[in-house]
Amino acid sequence: MAQLLVIPGDGIGPEIIAATLPMVEAVFKAADKDYSIKHAQLGGQAVDDTGSPYPEATQKAAKAADAILFGAIGGPQWEKLPREKRPETGLLAIREDLELFANFRPAMMFDELVQASSLKPEIVKGLDILIVRELTGGIYFGQPRGIKANDDSTKPGFKTVGFNTMVYTDSEIRRLAKVAFQAAMRRSKKLCSVDKANVLEVSQLWRDILTEEAVNWPDVELSHMYVDNAAMQLVKDPRQFDVVVTGNLFGDILSDAAAMLTGSIGMLPSASLDVNNKGLYEPCHGSAPDIAGQDKANPLATILSAAMMLRYTFGMNDYAQYMEAAVHKVLKQGYRTIDLMAASEQSFGLKRVGTKAMGMAVLEELNGILDANTTST
Ligand code: NAD
Repeated sequence: MAQLLVIPGDGIGPEIIAATLPMVEAVFKAADKDYSIKHAQLGGQAVDDTGSPYPEATQKAAKAADAILFGAIGGPQWEKLPREKRPETGLLAIREDLELFANFRPAMMFDELVQASSLKPEIVKGLDILIVRELTGGIYFGQPRGIKANDDSTKPGFKTVGFNTMVYTDSEIRRLAKVAFQAAMRRSKKLCSVDKANVLEVSQLWRDILTEEAVNWPDVELSHMYVDNAAMQLVKDPRQFDVVVTGNLFGDILSDAAAMLTGSIGMLPSASLDVNNKGLYEPCHGSAPDIAGQDKANPLATILSAAMMLRYTFGMNDYAQYMEAAVHKVLKQGYRTIDLMAASEQSFGLKRVGTKAMGMAVLEELNGILDANTTST
């Protein structure tokens, strides 16, 4: 049985989740899949109701689930709380608790939204990159770290030193390499590993392990690129990339740069997976308090995150494609939430819609696709 935990969160979270969930149910029903859906709290509302941004009931439910579909958390009313009660503490805690070490961030250019990119249409048209980022190691977590007074009299000239450590073990690199090769196998079988092996020993180990692991994936063409060059290539000729695998720090920067090539924050999905493909699926944007409760939020990033969930946790690649095709269709038909109006190539013929209407339009398309494919098979 597929066990799904739904965490709407704060701000626009409940609205974008409400627009997405009927699609997930429609797919499970069409595929005749046994499923259960539970709800839990995380973030600001969880603090208000339970005193914790990651309540015990949520911890239990998250551990029992196969996949978690998450909206967003946070808002100005919680910004002054002590760090342990802040909404984002809850999000970091759930990622750590579930050992979600592999972060998948696709950056896909929809033809209809090509004007949203800061690059020329001929450079980004057809862009479809997947960045696989290590999420629970590297310099963000490495020890030792800190800020210390300089108590070494042999080192004059400064009073304080700040330091972090970039550290990866071979097993951390290998487990990420495996999921990246797997992802490449599902796509065009091209994997580019990004590191800084000309300067960093930790990157040399990264490169060695990737090269070793490649032997197990003879159909995948592995290449290596230094991170400074990767940043350049990403803005010069982004379509040369298919799947990119990299560490936590480099991935943080490159995935934001790649995301911005597409220009639309409301269109970017993500997945964070553990070693058994259990995953947390969420849009890349935040809780957008400025438009919360107004039926203005774009639900497409959440819908595309749900498609990733079908693909990566439930192994339902065909159904993931149906959901993505439904999103493409409604964009083609001219449906736009307010954030996408400016991103569109032309404004005539566009239908400005709210969160609910956008969700319903995609659901209708999806139902049509499901009918066509389940009756013909
Ligand atoms: P944000 O992503 O929430 O909003 C930035 C801008 O983009 C806003 O103008 C917003 O209206 C717009 N926007 C975002 N998502 C949209 C959507 N789906 N449709 C239409 N417009 C959309 O970032 P922010 O304003 O920096 O942060 C707001 C809150 O969200 C903060 O409390 C922050 O901590 C939190 N946050 C949460 C997450 C998360 O839950 N993963 C991520 C980032 C920020």
